[in-house]
Amino acid sequence: MTISEKVALVTGGANGIGLACARQLHVAGWTVVVADRDEASGHELTKALPGSVFVSCDVSDGVQVDRAVAVAVDVGAGRLGGLVNNAGRTARTTFADLGESTWRSLQTVNLDSVYRFTRGCLPALTAASGAIVNIASVAGLVGEEGLAGYSATKGAIIALTRSLALELGGLRVNAVCPGQVNTRLMERVTSSPELLEAVVARIPAGRLGEPSEVASVVAWLLSDQASYVNGVALPVDGGETAGIKETALGTWPG
Ligand code: NAD
Repeated sequence: MTISEKVALVTGGANGIGLACARQLHVAGWTVVVADRDEASGHELTKALPGSVFVSCDVSDGVQVDRAVAVAVDVGAGRLGGLVNNAGRTARTTFADLGESTWRSLQTVNLDSVYRFTRGCLPALTAASGAIVNIASVAGLVGEEGLAGYSATKGAIIALTRSLALELGGLRVNAVCPGQVNTRLMERVTSSPELLEAVVARIPAGRLGEPSEVASVVAWLLSDQASYVNGVALPVDGGETAGIKETALGTWPG
């Protein structure tokens, strides 16, 4: 089966990293189905990417997830070759202030959605010898101060990815771990020059990442070019998690 015959479902694909994934997969010849709750952006997407399909879906609602999966399976008609579990939210707060409703919401949107979409798509993906890419985060590889709840969901996604890679045999399951990427999620940082400078100082690349730089890795992982890549959690972070960068502390050289 060549890529041009395949269909990919991208959750949270109406904006940011998911939108960049939808665009790059479209360019690579995939038919893209996007499940997102942002209807305005979703309908824009179908105009920009002819042949793509938008499904209005709150990924925290099991019934809506089932409906989105049914649409993708229907559009795929035996060719659902890719699932990108990308939809996510964050909540920056101290652990002391992390109330249970926020904790639950992070789990439901970020983690339960991966469980539901993956289970729902599994028969179709297996039949098409497809692949799954889960969008985790560097905050799932290392801890992140002020993001304990978010970090817990992303760490769980990485663990789930590895377990599924072992269990699902013919289906490749990988995770991508973006660092600091210039999307709405990063508005708190990009709207403050001081904060932006402090964040960028931690990153060997010396800048934030662009959504397209994550999307190109996702598109590669879904493609046959990555046919022997399975069970990895790949940082796409400009080197941020490579180790301790002394210049960020203002102590080097000297
Ligand atoms: P974004 O806010 O630009 O886009 C997120 C998309 O998900 C939006 O289209 C939004 O409508 C959708 N979405 C959110 N909650 C939803 C819900 N309940 N139901 C349906 N759709 C929903 O954010 P982004 O930066 O593109 O984030 C995409 C993924 O990348 C997330 O999983 C995020 O955790 C991860 N990530 C982002 C960064 C970063 O720096 N931007 C870093 C690491 C990981």
